[in-house]
Amino acid sequence: MEVATARWPALPALPDPATDRIVACGLAAELSHALGGPFHFLLPDAFTANLAAFRAALADARVPGFVHYAKKANKAAVFVERAAAAGAGVDVASAAELREALGHGVRGEHLMVTGPAKDPVLLRLALAHGATVAVDALDELDRVISLARSATARPARVLLRVLPGTQPHSRFGMDDGELDTALARCRAAGEAIRTEGFSFHLSGYALQPRADLTARLVERCRRAREAGLPADRISIGGGLPVSYTDAASWHAFLETQRPDHYHAGKRFEAGDFYPYHSPVAGAAALTALLATRPADRASTVAELLREAGIALLLEPGRTLLDRAGATVFRIQGVKERDGHRLLTVDGTSLSLSEQWFNSEYLPDPRLVPARPDAPTGVFPASVGAATCLESDMLTWRRIAFPHPPRAGDLLLYPNTAGYQMDSNESPFHDLPLPPKVVVDRTEQVRPRWRLDRHFT
Ligand SMILES: *Cc1c(COP(=O)(O)O)cnc(C)c1O
Repeated sequence: MEVATARWPALPALPDPATDRIVACGLAAELSHALGGPFHFLLPDAFTANLAAFRAALADARVPGFVHYAKKANKAAVFVERAAAAGAGVDVASAAELREALGHGVRGEHLMVTGPAKDPVLLRLALAHGATVAVDALDELDRVISLARSATARPARVLLRVLPGTQPHSRFGMDDGELDTALARCRAAGEAIRTEGFSFHLSGYALQPRADLTARLVERCRRAREAGLPADRISIGGGLPVSYTDAASWHAFLETQRPDHYHAGKRFEAGDFYPYHSPVAGAAALTALLATRPADRASTVAELLREAGIALLLEPGRTLLDRAGATVFRIQGVKERDGHRLLTVDGTSLSLSEQWFNSEYLPDPRLVPARPDAPTGVFPASVGAATCLESDMLTWRRIAFPHPPRAGDLLLYPNTAGYQMDSNESPFHDLPLPPKVVVDRTEQVRPRWRLDRHFT
């Protein structure tokens, strides 16, 4: 059942020596045995390096700024611990996330609280700890002002979240008229609140709309200052891209993929895939954004911010988690279907969240044979879950594995820390949630591991 490679587009993950070492030294197999089921491993050193790269991008552009890690991208405690240790902030959207962040050492004033119509418990905690609140609507602003008047001695720090003109159907943020009303209420609230500026979060990964909106908000900050408000910072949210695979593989895939590459002839809209290759990604995308000229401006974003004395806040989630973890399953069974292999692994696609968005997590899973003598060739197979749901597939696409997959082999999904691991996980079928294992010292012969401390 060996077939020609050309038929099967591959999407290899970009090189990651830390993951390679965890496989090569036998730790992945040992953990799979010890934990008795699928698990995620986390590579916090990658997180710390990504965070440092973002800060360096701000420093190199001489733009004052502050990075808040968007916690929703992964539930693990270790990334919050690393953000705290580095003096960075955390973006939270629930009381539980706020407690986690505080409990793992993030200072209250380094918290950014986002999300619509925030729970009163969350608002009270935010105000008590001096967190910044990105206010999403006028009624929420009223609640913040009255809470600030009644409950705390310190003023509420607020940003006003803007409904982007390019995304008028977004359910988040305030339009121009609402912003004017909000600013009037902020002025009237006097000492109760500190109006620190504006915020947005755009869907999509393009830089130009982010540059254009930042420029408009610099103007808004100027006008707010003329009206006596501090307005000295702008939060650009998240949404900077991660590149998972190389350009050639990605473009070849988009050109050649077709339904018979997938189990059951499954069809995906190419436009529904995450852009798994980006020529400019991560901290380099921030550098590029700062160097972008907004429409109708002679200056770059960095120049506009510097001239106006405005700090740039950002809330990256996915980009801080680039190469900060992977997910390991064990193959439980192999059967033939329509002349192809269909693998069943010991977990579910709930641990690979992209599968639940009309889409597919495309970076190729890597086969780690249990036996060293595995024959080589091209062995296409798709990957199903150990559940009774027809649609519970970890990979609909037939991956051209270099060895015949066998029960007992491991399947490693690369680069899953950003949104894949746990946003959809549930103990479906009473299967336990895969544990998270923190691995560091990966440059040493024998990396070190422990379980993550997230237990809420
Ligand atoms: C989800 C979210 C982020 C993080 O986005 P990424 O794409 O992970 O960088 C930041 N800010 C807000 C308001 C969000 O909702």
